[in-house]
Parts: sequence; structure tokens; C-alpha cells
Amino acid sequence: MKKPELLAPAGDLERLKIAILYGADAVYMGGMAFGLRANATNFTLEEIKEGLFFAHERNRKVYITVNIVLHNKEIKPLNEYLKTLKEIGVDAIIASDPTVIEMAKKHGLEVHLSTQQSTLNYESALFFKELGVSRIVLGRETTKEDIALIKQKTGIEIECFIHGAMCASYSGRCVLSNYFTKRDANRGGCSQICRWNFELWDDEKNITSLKDFTFCSKDLSMLPYIDEMIEIGVDSLKIEGRMRSSYYIATVVGIYRQAIDSYPTKGKEFFYKNAQRILDACANRDSVPQFFNEVYDHTCSYYNGRVEISNQDFLGIVLDYDEKTKYVTLEQRNYFKKGDSVEFFGPGKTYTYILSDIFDEEGRKVEVARHPRQILKFQVDFPLSKNDMMRKNILNIVQQDISST
Ligand code: SF4
Repeated sequence: MKKPELLAPAGDLERLKIAILYGADAVYMGGMAFGLRANATNFTLEEIKEGLFFAHERNRKVYITVNIVLHNKEIKPLNEYLKTLKEIGVDAIIASDPTVIEMAKKHGLEVHLSTQQSTLNYESALFFKELGVSRIVLGRETTKEDIALIKQKTGIEIECFIHGAMCASYSGRCVLSNYFTKRDANRGGCSQICRWNFELWDDEKNITSLKDFTFCSKDLSMLPYIDEMIEIGVDSLKIEGRMRSSYYIATVVGIYRQAIDSYPTKGKEFFYKNAQRILDACANRDSVPQFFNEVYDHTCSYYNGRVEISNQDFLGIVLDYDEKTKYVTLEQRNYFKKGDSVEFFGPGKTYTYILSDIFDEEGRKVEVARHPRQILKFQVDFPLSKNDMMRKNILNIVQQDISST
């Protein structure tokens, strides 16, 4: 069975490198123009080139989102932009507007059809295949049977979302953001109005029960279904979240890398139980498989009583490790202190550890690490690498190497 590609979001160069180091086969990001994440720190041309160099050196791919809804005045600049993307060697663009697709083809660029096109059936997929796209990013609203049938009838490469936020509408087909905040969801400006709290009124009467009303979706998580996605022939498994932190990217990419490499997963319940706990711990909302099993109902959204918990599990990122002295140099991200039980994790490895004496850069003992981005040093008995991360002891396992599970 062919292993699918693991595709991760890159909000900036740091997160691009983290995604690749933690196991992504490819990354996607936006340039300064024509993408759909106005709030993400999009890449300059120089940064795209640096990202391409980093990825290609490691045999990984880079896709650029050009999935904006296009206006007349943008046609000329778009042509120049696509020409440049081809010249610098991007592996594909992700587009939905037919003008972008046609223009990209003229420049010899590979095109993946964006999920913004909401492709949910094989006839549409065939239409876009004939138009020349090499891959279709299916709408998140496809069921397992939909995906299998589209793959079987078209033979085209299929990309599906496996993890991250959902839109309460068919991806971006919504004007709430335009109406309430004058920010266009289809031009990168969605202000996620569906997550606001509303009151429900019937004529003159407020009929909101106990709590305010919201209609935002829970997140998507397909971890328990990775085997089934591989078996129905999904070519690329995509993680959502160009606005997410490096910690989130490292955690989620690392878990799905292990899940794909563990296929078939029969008999690996221990890995899955722990993996789900880790994913749940780094999310701030509940997650469900959404449409995959055809059970999309009220349990997939929040209507009342949604609680978002800010996550402070991420304690620091490793800058350096001295194998002779066994001292790690770490940049602090959240509060920790001597005696805390923590986990270090990196690509394919996790260790738990009880923290010993902590020192600042001048060698002074630090009782409590409370300053964000402070550089700290302390001894750790096992080898660490730059970009490994330290988090709270989510698994609650003491001094045990779980990398082989
Ligand atoms: S406001 Fe909500 S439903 Fe509308 S486009 Fe944004 S995420 Fe989707």
C-alpha cells in the first residue's frame, strides 16, 4: 500500500522548518499576495526561496496557496507572480479560480485544486482533471464513500484534511465576516464570526436558553481513521493551521508521521491512546471526525457552553545540547521550575524527566522559569537536538522512553 504524503501548514520560516524536521513530506504556505490567510505571517519571495531550499535539500515539497477569489485589477499582477513562482521552482500552487488555473498552466506550474472549490463529487473532479489540475483537495464535507468513489472514478490525486479547524459553512462560502467586520472571508480576511456569542431573538423576545448561542464547528481529527484513509487511496493527508504555533505544528505533525509510518496500526493501541491524549492536550477545542462517517449532527458543533482553554503545556524549545557536559540550552515559553516532571520530544522520540537545577545565561541559579523567551541551562541525561521541545508531562509517565511504542 502506497504511503500517503503528510502535508503541513507553514505560517513562517520557523514553522516551515519545524514541520519538515518533525516529518512532513510537504508544506503549504501563502505568499504576500493572492492567498487566503491575510492574518498569517505570509512569506516574502526571499523567504519562499529559503523555504524551497530547505525543503528541496531534504527531498520535501513546497506548495504555494493562490486561492483568492480574483478581481479584474489582479489579473496582470497575478501573471507576473505566477511566472516568478515557476522560475524559483515551487512544486505546485493551490488554486480555485479558473483564471488562476489557466494562467498557471501556461507558465508550466503544477496546480492543485483548492478546497475553496468545495469539490464533493466525481463529475466535478473529472471536470477539473480535464482542466489540467493534477490534484484535488476535496471539500471537508466528503464522507468516506464520497472519497473512495471520487478516487475510483477519476484516478486523480486526492488530498483530504485530517486535522484542524472547520468552517461552519462550506469552506468560506459565507459573508458573516464581511457583514460584521468588513473583512472578506474569500479574500483572506475571515474574522471567524461563527465563534462569536449571539443572542437568539424571536420578534421582541430573547429566546436564548441559559447561555449565549454560537454555531462554530468543533475541530476535525482523523487520527483513528488514518488506516481507512490509506486503504481508500487518499494521496495526501493535510493538516490545517497556518496560524498555529511551532509547538502545535511539531506535536501534530509528529503524531501523524508516526501514525502513517505505523500502518497497519493493528496491535498498536498503546501508541494511539497516548497519541490521542497528546493531540487533545495541545488543542483548545474538542475534535471529532466530522463528515467522514456520515454522522454529521449537533455533536459536531458548539451551540451552547463552548469553553476555549488557553494551552500552557509548551515549556520551551531546545537551542543546543552539549553532549560532554549534558547541559541543554533552552528558550523558555511557559512557567516551570526545578523538580517538575516534564517531557522532551523531537522527531520520533519522547522522554520524560524530572528537572534538576536551572541556571540563567550568567550561571545564576533560577528558582522558577517565569520569563518568556529567557535562555536557560540545565542538565539532562539523554541526548537532545536543536528544535526538540519541552512540555508538561502530558502522558504522566515517569522516566520511561516511549519512542518505540
Ligand atoms: S465566519 Fe465562520 S463560517 Fe464564516 S467563513 Fe469564517 S469560519 Fe467559515
